[in-house]
Amino acid sequence: MASSKKQKTPALSTIAVHGGSPRPEAGEPVAQPLVQSVNYVQHPNTAEGLRYTRYGNTPNEEVVQKRIAMLEGAEAALVLSSGMGATACALLALLRPGDHLLSSSWIYGGTRKLFNEEFVQMGIEVSYANPDERRVWRNTIRQNTRVIFVESPVNPTTRVIDLAQLAILAKTQGVALVVDSTLASPINSRPISHGADVVIHSATKYLNGHHDVLAGVVAGTASYIEEVRRKMIVWGQAPDPFACWMLERGLKTLDVRVSRINENAMKIAEWCEKRPEIGKVHYPGLASHPDHSLAKKLMDGFGGLMSIELSGGAAAADRFIARLKLITHASSLGGVDTLIVEPRYSSHAGMTSEERAAIGIPDGFIRLSIGIEGAEDIIADIAQALQ
Ligand SMILES: *Cc1c(COP(=O)(O)O)cnc(C)c1O
Repeated sequence: MASSKKQKTPALSTIAVHGGSPRPEAGEPVAQPLVQSVNYVQHPNTAEGLRYTRYGNTPNEEVVQKRIAMLEGAEAALVLSSGMGATACALLALLRPGDHLLSSSWIYGGTRKLFNEEFVQMGIEVSYANPDERRVWRNTIRQNTRVIFVESPVNPTTRVIDLAQLAILAKTQGVALVVDSTLASPINSRPISHGADVVIHSATKYLNGHHDVLAGVVAGTASYIEEVRRKMIVWGQAPDPFACWMLERGLKTLDVRVSRINENAMKIAEWCEKRPEIGKVHYPGLASHPDHSLAKKLMDGFGGLMSIELSGGAAAADRFIARLKLITHASSLGGVDTLIVEPRYSSHAGMTSEERAAIGIPDGFIRLSIGIEGAEDIIADIAQALQ
């Protein structure tokens, strides 16, 4: 029986503000100081305690690493210079030549390039599973599979993967389950609590949340994070102290930002679903979404990413975006400003119209990353641009 004196874990909102930073004493600053120094005075006669920014062990790096580990419910976390740096080092720490990486086919374009163009050249076998196919994971796992890699929710279709189910298979097969949880943020989902072994974020998105820092995160067991750190050190993927200081500041409002974004996105999705100009709305919070019940089970909020398909197709989408006055036409996602993109001009520009349609992104498909502005103002902007 758990002792009644057992300390209650603080709320995520409390961890987001205080996690990992020592309580300041009288006369000390309330805000974490920025220590913009690459090297540190060393103790004489020992290699112990050597600090260097590329090792990820300087003050601003360590505070933000601890805070993110606490938010994810992980033993440890490492902050890297970008989401791509995080994905690369996380997987290089797990895979050797001859190993097999089984990836979801619904992943970020940059990640797919890393797998196809770099990992394959290093002698790592890569294959893709379409998560919509029944028993696909069980049927495509190999003797030499070391990692199952998924992104959930998926950009830009907002599909949700059954992590709990996948974690059971990964455990019985002795395979590491690695989850890119960028779109969820730890406020909406903590994959380790569903059985994942490793969590990756592009901290450029929700974790920082202000469109002004490039960073990445890997979270997992302490011994695994030391392996990732070794990769980070030799491949030179450590972040600058200033980026960590900015990220730490951004994290303080993570819970309030994501809560507002969840509320806004739900209102906007419901409004969009009633409009005749919009043929389809992809948002996991809607009962019409194919993974709605799964999202309700695995997630505490449905997030800020949604996609809409305009009935008028490509021409209607171009016209709509040109008319927007508040919503900004820009790539990326997860920040305080509402952003909009057409995948055919950004993430999926390299594909033909038919190829895009085959993966669920027809012409007229628009992705929105909802911000923290007033929902009624975002809706008014959409309404005037639809006219
Ligand atoms: C943006 C993004 C990445 C890459 O992150 P960077 O910080 O741009 O390197 C990886 N995965 C997902 C899901 C993303 O949205």
